[in-house]
Amino acid sequence: MIQVLIVGGTHGNERTGVQLIRRLQASSTELERNHFVAKTLLANQLAMANNRRYLDQDLNRCFSEELLSNIPENREQSRAKEINEQFGPKGPNTQTDWIIDLHTTTANMGITLIVQQNDPLALDMALYVQKQLPGAVIFYEDNAPTTNSFLCSIAKHGFLIEVGPVAQGLLRWDAFEHTRQALSHALDFIDLQLSGQLSLPSIREADVFQFTEKLHLPRDESGEIIGMIHPQLQDQDYCKLSPGEPIFILDTGETVLFEYHEPVYVAFVNEAAYYDQAHGLSLMRKRHLTWTD
Ligand SMILES: [Zn+2]
Repeated sequence: MIQVLIVGGTHGNERTGVQLIRRLQASSTELERNHFVAKTLLANQLAMANNRRYLDQDLNRCFSEELLSNIPENREQSRAKEINEQFGPKGPNTQTDWIIDLHTTTANMGITLIVQQNDPLALDMALYVQKQLPGAVIFYEDNAPTTNSFLCSIAKHGFLIEVGPVAQGLLRWDAFEHTRQALSHALDFIDLQLSGQLSLPSIREADVFQFTEKLHLPRDESGEIIGMIHPQLQDQDYCKLSPGEPIFILDTGETVLFEYHEPVYVAFVNEAAYYDQAHGLSLMRKRHLTWTD
């Protein structure tokens, strides 16, 4: 029997996924498909109780092979080991086929479908969900499995649904509903795939965004933030940013222009969760990705 796990509360202040998991636990018919019944997990209940992303360390950075094999140094590392024992172990012998991890962002990113390593089946899932929800964006990261530190990397196939904008700690019906729909289509995909009813071309293709780097907010020598995202860039996630365009506005009123060697695309613009390291946005490149089985 295939094992499918749906996870919420990996980040304790992303309430949408938590609410959806609780709803699914209360009325489990939404977890059932012809070929499986999905399980659910609230990943970081301590952080949830404190309405914080994490207590000591981002749980979604604790699942690298190295961290999972070391003695835990904090509460999230301990929790990662527990989850890995219950649903892993990470690697070829994992007992979990799929993990679908539910997240929200404060950035204006709509429905983002994140595939965090080169996995044709997860890319097929993203493409399927995108066809059902036009406007959803595929975000692709080419992480190596061993160093991939995301929670969903302990399953054979991992998939993240990231919906925004929604403030930390907040519930918004639109974000909840988008998350619920994307999840439902993802579960349908697994069921169709198992039933052999998916007729996919031998070569699949999609436009995806691939992360390149994060940019810091303007800071002074002591590390204090001394500016903000420029209003022209605010909410412009997945738009193109060209060299010479405004990126930050300093507390002095001065505009900082984007200095770079080429145009890029932006995401996680003014993401509140990035303020712990004073990051202001992520740079992405747009790729036309093709893949086969
Ligand atoms: Zn998150």
